[in-house]
Amino acid sequence: QQITVVNMNNTITEAINLLEPSFKKKNIKYVLKFQKPTIQLNVDSIQLIQVIFNMVLNAIYFSPENGEIQIETLDNKNNVILNISDQGPGIKHAIADKIFNPFFTTKPVGDGVGLGLSVVHGIIKSHKGTITHLPNSPKGTIFSIKFPKI
Ligand code: ADP
Ligand code: MG
Repeated sequence: QQITVVNMNNTITEAINLLEPSFKKKNIKYVLKFQKPTIQLNVDSIQLIQVIFNMVLNAIYFSPENGEIQIETLDNKNNVILNISDQGPGIKHAIADKIFNPFFTTKPVGDGVGLGLSVVHGIIKSHKGTITHLPNSPKGTIFSIKFPKI
């Protein structure tokens, strides 16, 4: 792990550019809400892009055609928050605590192996951060990731 000072918003823009074809395929719109133009934090830059890429890829997969994904960053005194919201089916209560387990997936065979969130969880833990999810309104999921400022 190599910790450097990284601009969270630039990393999001990079990940979004990589995912542009996937957004286009389902005609999904993304809305970026950056509280401040520059939000700096100490992280492994490769791991941060891995986190954003995995989270947004899930959001795209579970979004309906013509859906909207919102990516929000907040700069607080002691932490940086990254919220990813979609308009998908949401996450049923019964599986809420299983989704971070390696190889847990609800996707049909061939679509996913269930490693994305477990990798994301490991990376966030190694940065002493947290990841939670809650229902979006009127439907969908909001994932909220908190990185401490270290
Ligand atoms: P995979 O994408 O291969 O299924 P992940 O670890 O990325 O593996 O996700 C595990 C499971 O968590 C998914 O199969 C799905 O059930 C649930 N999940 C993850 N992200 C979302 C989301 N944005 N909306 C609804 N369910 C989700
Ligand atoms: Mg995934």
